[in-house]
Amino acid sequence: MKTNKFINVKSCKVCNSSNLSKVLELSESPIGDKYTSKENISQSKDLFPLDIMMCESCKHYQNSVAVDPDLIYNVYLSRPSTTNPVLSDAFKEYANYLVANFGKDENLFAVEAGSNDGAFINYMQEKLNVKVLGVEPSDLSKQANKANILTIKNYFGLNLAKEIKKDHGPANFFIANHTFSNIVDLKDFVAGVRHLLKPNGVFSMQTHYHKSVVEKNLIENFTHEHLSGFYLKPLKSFFEKQNMEIFDAKIVAAKSGSIRCFIQNKNGPNKILPSVNEIIKMEEEFLMDQKTRHDSVKDFIQNIKKQIHEFIDPLVKNNKKIAAFGTSVGATTFCFNYDLGKSISFFLDDDKYRQNLLSPYYHIPVLSPVEIYKIKPSAIIILAPLYADIIINKNSKYFNEGGVFIKIWPKFEIVKK
Ligand SMILES: [Zn+2]
Repeated sequence: MKTNKFINVKSCKVCNSSNLSKVLELSESPIGDKYTSKENISQSKDLFPLDIMMCESCKHYQNSVAVDPDLIYNVYLSRPSTTNPVLSDAFKEYANYLVANFGKDENLFAVEAGSNDGAFINYMQEKLNVKVLGVEPSDLSKQANKANILTIKNYFGLNLAKEIKKDHGPANFFIANHTFSNIVDLKDFVAGVRHLLKPNGVFSMQTHYHKSVVEKNLIENFTHEHLSGFYLKPLKSFFEKQNMEIFDAKIVAAKSGSIRCFIQNKNGPNKILPSVNEIIKMEEEFLMDQKTRHDSVKDFIQNIKKQIHEFIDPLVKNNKKIAAFGTSVGATTFCFNYDLGKSISFFLDDDKYRQNLLSPYYHIPVLSPVEIYKIKPSAIIILAPLYADIIINKNSKYFNEGGVFIKIWPKFEIVKK
């Protein structure tokens, strides 16, 4: 039995300072992806605090608590390549770019941490003739190995890097796509990367960009999985302290605003490009390093919550059914910060793996969208805001028959005929 399910994070993950200030208080919430079967309901009844802290020393943002990673990753439902086909083309281009620009050696070898079902490295393996190895702590590693994408079921760190180097040799590429913010011990992780990379190797890291999160109110990114909210300025000094350097960075469209950093061992072969300082300048102009920078996010959350409840509370009071579309980790963030748990009758999701499971904590059933026409909810709140228009189009019959969709981003909006 686990007794310590989470810890309060007392020091900065980037610079070790213990001078942390709370900049955003969020609602307590369960582990966001713990959609479970009836039999496993006990796995999803815990609530954990979730506040955003700023390090007064290096201005890095991070969560106030870290939930035991085994509780998060033992069963993990997200399968990005099947549920987010939108990402695929961008990722192909990204893999092509890596090999075209930094893959001059013969016999290229790429390691990816947090490789999920292996979709990204499988493309490198099949199309770009690169030997690959995935590292993935969740059950998705099994799925990857079945598909002939060699994957180690583990967390990446220095110890594992030593084993990988011994067994497979040094790597040309180390890849971490939407993984770096989930890392508990960043220094150990980066020590592993440094150990594993060839002298001319490239660490390519893409993560959600905290400036975009704040600027666009992408609050679905506030989860227990995302321990850090990165932007370039603290990252640059972090890598310098680890004897590595960011030589190029770009803001990419993934998840409505992500940052991709290209990193090498200090004094590596690549010239440091102006993009690095240009992005940092933009962050400074946006006042990313100011304690009050999250106040607009706080106002946004309160405002949306108020408008949702003004609309749905009278319906719920009259025993009308309210549905919620989307069951990602972020949907749980919405559910708790907008206090929707007692108002939603059922969730909807196209993903068959999630249908018939029960939502974290409130145990609300997840149904297939075909149920819309049997149950006829009075309104459907869209909790996958980046896919709102796709969802409305796919379910246009409900809309045409007088159904009501509620958009919660980028502003509150009732969509009806
Ligand atoms: Zn710090």
